[in-house]
This record gives sequence, structure tokens and C-alpha cells, in this order.
Amino acid sequence: MSNLSMQLNIKDTFNKELPADPIPENTRRQVEKAAFSYATPKKTAAPKLLCASKETADLIGLSSADLNSDSFLKVFSGNEVLAGTKPYAMCYGGHQFGHWAGQLGDGRAINLTEVEHQGKTWALQLKGAGPTPYSRSADGLAVLRSSIREFLCSEAMFHLGVPTTRALSLALTGDEVLRDVLYNGNSAYEKGAVVCRVAPSFIRFGNFEIFASRRDTETLKKLVDYTIKHHYPHLGAPSKETYIAFMREVAQRTMKMIVHWQRVGFVHGVMNTDNLSILGLTIDYGPYGWLEGYDHGWTPNTTDRQQKRYRFENQPDIGLWNLLKLANALYPLIEDAKPLEAILHEYKSHYEPAYQQMMKDKLGLEDAYEEDSKLIEQLEEVLHLTETDMTIFFRNLANFKKETNVDAAIDKEFLNPVLAAFYKPEELTGPTLAYWKAWFANYAARLKVANSSDDIRKVKMDSVNPKYVLRNYMAQVAIDAADNGDYQLIKDFLELLRNPYSEQPAMEKWFAKRPEWARHKVGCSMLSCSS
Ligand code: AMP
Ligand code: MG
Repeated sequence: MSNLSMQLNIKDTFNKELPADPIPENTRRQVEKAAFSYATPKKTAAPKLLCASKETADLIGLSSADLNSDSFLKVFSGNEVLAGTKPYAMCYGGHQFGHWAGQLGDGRAINLTEVEHQGKTWALQLKGAGPTPYSRSADGLAVLRSSIREFLCSEAMFHLGVPTTRALSLALTGDEVLRDVLYNGNSAYEKGAVVCRVAPSFIRFGNFEIFASRRDTETLKKLVDYTIKHHYPHLGAPSKETYIAFMREVAQRTMKMIVHWQRVGFVHGVMNTDNLSILGLTIDYGPYGWLEGYDHGWTPNTTDRQQKRYRFENQPDIGLWNLLKLANALYPLIEDAKPLEAILHEYKSHYEPAYQQMMKDKLGLEDAYEEDSKLIEQLEEVLHLTETDMTIFFRNLANFKKETNVDAAIDKEFLNPVLAAFYKPEELTGPTLAYWKAWFANYAARLKVANSSDDIRKVKMDSVNPKYVLRNYMAQVAIDAADNGDYQLIKDFLELLRNPYSEQPAMEKWFAKRPEWARHKVGCSMLSCSS
């Protein structure tokens, strides 16, 4: 028996309390009236641990020493099943790119177990651990590049203060995986990898939709009651009122998560309903990206290039669209559209002030002034005039001094604090420069009437405007090195991104605009769902 079985406080609930698929065989099929199917991770050829997160280990009660044990590698590469556990894949459906896609499910994710530590429950899930009944025509595996991206971004988001699933470990499998990165007929073998993800639960909107779509109200009710009992216990015993309160809280959490995404410049890329967590956590790191140039219309996902459904500015509306699908799925248990409609209206009316407050925090604006929303709107316009790096702009804006006499400034002198953010400073002339000047004059005036000292403002701004994010090209640099057998950068980035709001002089080179070579490079600005 693995030592880990003794160390982890195993407390399975999902696969104990919800109906299981009675068919034990791991064959691809439609699974009805069941929340999950048992599935055993596939054994791998030559597993090797590349990186582990000590904070996530801490959450589940493992020490740094445990991470280096043989047992840890075996369990978290899928080669050994923890004693007393029965791994499983969840059944869910989803709306993909606006259309109902039917049954999807954990096609390449296998839940190992749930553990309890310090009063909290955590589900441990391997991504890329081989086929399950939900794998459809795919192989159930994951490649190293997408696993590095998921591993690093999960932890980076956590440290940024964005609700997210966590990552415990990243391991090579030693197996090769065939992928056609750009879906253009050029398949090639890549290194296979597996990530262990950790979250209180991996239940998605799609877990509810699948039962509603099949008119299976009985299983739907079981899942809703389970979710409330374990993850929303404060809402109380099952009743129509409780279900309405549940829907309301999911809407609030989803809204808050998206405000955070807009704050840090994160574009999820595939906000299908199967990729929206019922706990309001960022989940399923696929073709996501970070805004470099501040561009509301940007999406990293090439699969979505035409429609740009999941572009940056659309994320709040898509959140609402997805919540509407969740409300439809819960309707059979509530049978009253009015309260559900009210919740969706609330989402809209709550989002706007939450967004405004978030932007005010980014600008360091204290108190409430009527003109603030105009100042914010004008900034968003002027940021689009010439390519401006979002992270650098907001971080360096904290260095602007409110006594600056913008009107009297010579040429673009007043822009000095934020000059490093401009990709083409030579475009800062004529009307573009005039707009910037007007904006900074208004900003200085606003700070003078209603703000305390520059120093206090800087401290506050620095706590919401990160210095370091996982820029698209950074992940790619780590991936290129890893493809050549050098895994150090993964560890370095994990370390760097543990303190994204702190100055880290030795790492200053990562506080820099995207280099030109990365502008159109696959993996940096163009990502597909192939992973
Ligand atoms: P995604 O777009 O990654 O959220 O995946 C959508 C659906 O496709 C989910 O049901 C996944 O489990 C499934 N899927 C994605 N990649 C694979 C794969 N390589 N093998 C099996 N299923 C997959
Ligand atoms: Mg998914």
C-alpha cells in the first residue's frame, strides 16, 4: 500500500453519495442516470515529476518531503491507485460556442479521490490520465505544452487573488501523444504529461445541464442537493427557496470571478458551459491568454477567430449567457421563471458597479466622484489608440505624481511614468498624444481634489495591479525549453508568480512588453483547443 494513503485523509463523497454508472467497462458510450463512471488512470511508460506546488500540497496535508517520494510520483502520474479509493470520471454536457453539444464528460480527467484537511474538502483530479467512457473519439491524454500552461496558470491565478482551481503537480508520462496543433493536417508526436488539479469540486454548469436535457429530474435533484449540502451548506435544506438562493450565489460568484479576470487581463478563451465551475472558480486552462496590448476585442483562441465569441470584452456577457443555461437546467426543480429572471437581471445590475469599483481601484481613485465613470471610459478609449501593454501601463501608472502640470508639459514628458507600456512610442503624436494629454490632465485634476498622498495611492494600486503575470510568450519560452529537456524555467516561473504584486528586481526582465518575435507565434498569440 502506498504511504500516501496513510498521509491523506481520504473522505470520498461524490462517488459515494451520487448514482454511479453501473457498467464497469471503460468503453465510450452515453451514460444515463448516473453522475459518474468508474475509470482507472492509464499506466505510463516512464513517469517523471517536473514540478509541484508546495502551497497546494499544504492544502491537502502533504509536506515538501512527501512531494519527493516515490509514492507521490506513482499516484500523481496515474500509476498507482490510492488504497481505499475508486477513481471516476464525471458525466456532464455543455453548450459549446453557443450550441448544445450533448454529453461531454471527463474525457481525459480522472478524479482520484477527495481528501479532508483542516476542515476543508479537496478533490484531486488527474488531467491527461487516459481514456474514460467520455473520451468520445479522443485519446484521453494531454501534451506537455498544455500541461505546463495549466499548471503554471492555475497557481499564478491563485496568487493574483483570482478564484481558481489549483495545481498540485506536473509530471511527464514518458509516452508520446499525437497532436495536430493548428488542425491543418500536420500531426506530430509530442511529450505526454499529466497534471494533478485540486479544487473543492470540479462540478460544472454542464453537470446539471446534462440531466435537464434528458428530463432526468430525479438525478438532477440528487446532484443539486449534493452540491448544496457539500459546497453551499449555509443555504440550508433542499427546497425551492434554497435552489433559488443557490442559483443566486452561483451567479454572484461567477460575476466576481469575471471582474477579477478583467482586472488582471485574463481571457479564458473557451467559456463553454462545461468550462464554468459551479463554485465560481476559473477552470480548464486551455487556449487562454493574457492581454498584452490592451484590446477589448482580443481572444487568443484561433478556433474562435471568426466570431470572437470569447473575446476579452465579451466575458461578462458570456457569463450571463451561461448562467441563463444553468437557470434553464435548474428550472425543473423550481418551476417558476420569475425568481430566476430576477437573478439574471441582478447579475447585470451588479456587474456594472463591481466593474467600475475594480477600475477605480486600478486607477487608485479614492471616494466616489460622479465623473469617475467618464474618466474610466475615456481611459479605455485612449488605451486603444496605440498598442499599450495593460500590465505595464497600470503598474506604472502608480508612479504618476498628482502635482504633474500636464498642460505645461513639453512634448510627451507627462507620459514618462508609463512610457515603457507603449509598443510603438513613435505613434504618440498628433491627436493620439493630445488625447493622452487630455486624459492625464483630467486624472491629475481628479487626484488633486480627492486623493491622499501619491505614496498611499501607489501602495493601494500596487496591490491590485500585478507586476508579473504569465505573459503568453513566457509560457511559450518555458514550453520550448521543456521540449528540449530543460525544466528549470517552469520552477522559476512558479516561484516568480507566487508574488505577482511584489517588486522582484532579479526577475525584472519578465516585466517587459511581448517581444516582436512572439507577436504572431503559435503558442504566444495563437492557441487552438488542441491540447
Ligand atoms: P475542453 O474544450 O478542453 O474543455 O474539452 C471539451 C470536452 O472534450 C471535454 O469533455 C473533455 O474531456 C474532452 N476532451 C478534450 N480533449 C480530450 C482528449 N484528448 N481526450 C478525450 N477527451 C478530450
Ligand atoms: Mg473542459
